[in-house]
Amino acid sequence: LGGSISRALQQMSNATIIDEKVLNECLNEITRALLQSDVQFKLVREMQTNIKKIVNLDDLAAGHNKRKIIQQAIFNELCKMLDPGKPSFTPKKSKPSVVMFVGLQGSGKTTTCTKYAYYHQKKGWKPALVCADTFRAGAFDQLKQNATKAKIPFYGSYMESDPVKIAVEGVERFKKENCDLIIVDTSGRHKQEVALFEEMRQVSEATKPDLVIFVMDSSIGQAAFDQAQAFKQSVAVGAVIVTKMDGHAKGGGALSAVAATKSPVIFIGTGEHMDEFEVFDVKPFVSRLLGMGDLSGFMDKIQEVVPMDQQPELLQKLSEGNFTMRIMYEQFQNLLKMGPINQVFSMLPGFSSELMPKGHEKESQAKIKRYMTMMDSMTNEELDSTNPKLMNESRMMRIARGSGRQFRDVVEMFEEYKRLAKVWSKMKGLKIPKKGDMSAL
Ligand code: GDP
Ligand code: MG
Repeated sequence: LGGSISRALQQMSNATIIDEKVLNECLNEITRALLQSDVQFKLVREMQTNIKKIVNLDDLAAGHNKRKIIQQAIFNELCKMLDPGKPSFTPKKSKPSVVMFVGLQGSGKTTTCTKYAYYHQKKGWKPALVCADTFRAGAFDQLKQNATKAKIPFYGSYMESDPVKIAVEGVERFKKENCDLIIVDTSGRHKQEVALFEEMRQVSEATKPDLVIFVMDSSIGQAAFDQAQAFKQSVAVGAVIVTKMDGHAKGGGALSAVAATKSPVIFIGTGEHMDEFEVFDVKPFVSRLLGMGDLSGFMDKIQEVVPMDQQPELLQKLSEGNFTMRIMYEQFQNLLKMGPINQVFSMLPGFSSELMPKGHEKESQAKIKRYMTMMDSMTNEELDSTNPKLMNESRMMRIARGSGRQFRDVVEMFEEYKRLAKVWSKMKGLKIPKKGDMSAL
């Protein structure tokens, strides 16, 4: 896929006379590629029409960087299609929220429920899991196992066959127990779709969820739109989670799910394990959809904002993949500084959404300053270490004392370090482009 888009754009940039015919050829090529990525035909057509409106043929003919213009237009258009214009409901710790998961059997609901609970638990929530899947044998066992592993309270029954009853009982119990995030897992039988949707409607009516999340397997292909629409018609879907993004599928069905539910994608699943779960980030997702790789946007950005003479050093560190505390410290310094260079760290796929969420810049800055204060109490050995085992409990205690913080603050800072190190390690082996070569697709 990436190849064909690059090829199409390459042809474009080689053509000396840009006319509508060339643009059309280029767009047709990209259309084929997007269809292969499971983007719905109707949406591709829509994008095509919009691109034609946006891309000004005169601009192209005037010899501006044609490839860049078209690439940017397609990229922006796809980003726009993933943005339904309003954010999804976000649970607040001050008031218990009920979140119901829906989706077909095998889409990853039960797995994703646990990931969602675990993710919030790590952030200080008190989540709980309710198994309202009475259809599939072993459903309760699966949830129980997951929940136990993550030390999350759960509710379900081997005997009761009424999903509505279990859902209501579970939600009531956990409200009494002061859980602030009550997650209801549901069944997702393959057949009897009418019965399934009726069941979802009943569970939803009885538990009054604050948010219904539609879980979609990234590999379902063109079926995504109908599936998402069918759920939306029976319950008030308010967000989408796309699973199995670690596989081959590019996840173009996500665009369909957003269009059909008018709800944003909030997380993606990237593996079977509890922590293989990421906050959804539009740009890396679209890069992947276009076969551009997660990094091309990042590379472009580095080229734009980092002075030429500072690029090699940063890229060198990235390509080595070793993320030390000292690098984190330096990057935090950059983040807090004014000026464009602070964008670089936050451009790394997976960094910005969590480290500096939009609208929470003040809190994020305070947090980063807090981390840096603790890191000031670290030794050079600790700052430069690439051995994660070095940071034992006694060292963490010493850092806490030295910086006048709690032990758990140091643990939190270290968790953040580990998360960032994981993202950073993905850059290992990054090919460092030669000067002027970075915008290559
Ligand atoms: P449910 O029927 O919707 O509850 O789906 P499950 O949660 O039982 O998941 C079905 C299968 O997909 C299980 O084998 C999961 O381990 C697997 N699965 C779920 N999410 C992911 C993911 O993000 N990546 C991978 N590789 N597998 C996943
Ligand atoms: Mg399940």
